Amino acid sequence: MITTTKQSAVSAFESFFLQHGEEGGEHFRNHVELVVDTLAEVFQTMDRPLEGKTVHDIQQELRGVLHLPEEPQSLHEVLEEIKGPVIKNSLHVSHERSMAHLHCPPVLPGVLAELIIGALNQSMDSWDQSPAATYVEEELTRYWCQLIGLSARGDGVFTSGGTQSNYMGMLLARDEFCLSKWGHNVQKDGLPESFKKMRVLCSEEAHFSVKKSVSQLGLGEQAVVPVPVNEDHRMDRHEVRRTVEQLEQEGLLPYAVVSTCGTTDYGSIDPLDGLADYCEEKGLWLHVDAAYGAGLLLSEKHGDKLSGMERADSVTLDFHKWLFQPISCGMFAVKERKHLRLLSHHADYLNPEEDEKEGIVNLVNKSIQTTRRFDALKVLLTLKVLGTRLLGSMVDQTMEVAQFAAGELEERSVFCVENPYPELSAVVFQYQPKGSRDVCGLNRKIQQKLFHEGTAVIAKTSVRGETYLKFTILNPRTTEEDVLAVIDEIEHTAKQMLGGHLIE
Ligand SMILES: *Cc1c(COP(=O)(O)O)cnc(C)c1O
Repeated sequence: MITTTKQSAVSAFESFFLQHGEEGGEHFRNHVELVVDTLAEVFQTMDRPLEGKTVHDIQQELRGVLHLPEEPQSLHEVLEEIKGPVIKNSLHVSHERSMAHLHCPPVLPGVLAELIIGALNQSMDSWDQSPAATYVEEELTRYWCQLIGLSARGDGVFTSGGTQSNYMGMLLARDEFCLSKWGHNVQKDGLPESFKKMRVLCSEEAHFSVKKSVSQLGLGEQAVVPVPVNEDHRMDRHEVRRTVEQLEQEGLLPYAVVSTCGTTDYGSIDPLDGLADYCEEKGLWLHVDAAYGAGLLLSEKHGDKLSGMERADSVTLDFHKWLFQPISCGMFAVKERKHLRLLSHHADYLNPEEDEKEGIVNLVNKSIQTTRRFDALKVLLTLKVLGTRLLGSMVDQTMEVAQFAAGELEERSVFCVENPYPELSAVVFQYQPKGSRDVCGLNRKIQQKLFHEGTAVIAKTSVRGETYLKFTILNPRTTEEDVLAVIDEIEHTAKQMLGGHLIE
């Protein structure tokens, strides 16, 4: 009796797992086909980046779907159910007029690699859970370290993104400083007595995750000292020197500089070589946040903008921004492999010290995560299917379109462009009609109206306290015509809002 119950229970579970044998293969194929059919049907009719529904309507539609049943439901049925409320109501990042954030359209090899990643479900923490994947990741990190220009002593690890990579940079910088200045081991003994004096410098336009990390690392937000930028939105190295000297006069301990290589708003690049010179002279840790700018590592035309990056102690790169990978996919690199040792803890069940003596590679030693995705496969598939040259030229293409957008906006006198010569692929601008009293309110409303109608997804940001608009061109399929159409739409929307008044 008992055996029968057990058997029928097992057969009820069976169809929900990957199975061996010919039947297993067929079963898998059928399921994947159902998903592909559903997505293909939506993509075929996708003529705008958003459906343009109200928050209320989206929530209402979702309510029906979010009911969780006790009994199984067929995959086909569930896909039909979520097709409208979830899939169609998503932001379609692959649409040419989706150009708001550093949120890229994923290339197909990356999307398909996600299927392989999920199906294989390798975990990158210990070699015995990812016997082949470990070496794929090792080889890819080596490849990108080489592209950055790091020596064979460099090393890296895949991360969930720029926030985690910046956190790791700030962690190593802190621990290395405490070790070299006081012989103090933070991992073992916690923060040293004088931790309140420790200071990190970064541009006032650095990503907020720098401050967040330093604060989470126990140093408090006051440990991050913002350095003013010049009119190109770059941190000036003379300002860095001045700030360091001032901090030292106050008895404080500056120990690291974060140089942003591609600020989130303007794509501006802090002077890498100049900062590297200064950091070397002063013995400061240099972390380069290239979450955005790393896209240029494969660019033949513009790769030289990254010159000096190879002198950083640590580097953040994101593949899920300007390198077209599905979220999440990032990397953290260090100039000196030995610094990663500051991270490693040994767990008997996972990465015992004997393993190391036997030459077994357990990537958990380099990561702040334990169970970790095989994201390196996305990058491998993409590099192999596209080739490095095409991938680099895709990035160049988005830059050209961004430059075109800036030029076009400059020509139309009703716009003011904050970065008329975009360093990367982001353009920040404001619609400034003569005589309008509430320019900020107008710009905010333009952005909202385009979003709610689904015509174009553009961003808004703040420049000296005022609301500006922003294009971030990350889709190489976005053409000059698309940009013209969106700019026309902005003007048209604005004129409608102003009721035809107040316009020249
Ligand atoms: C996006 C971004 C980050 C954060 O990266 P996530 O991948 O979103 O965690 C850090 N720095 C810069 C400059 C960024 O643009």
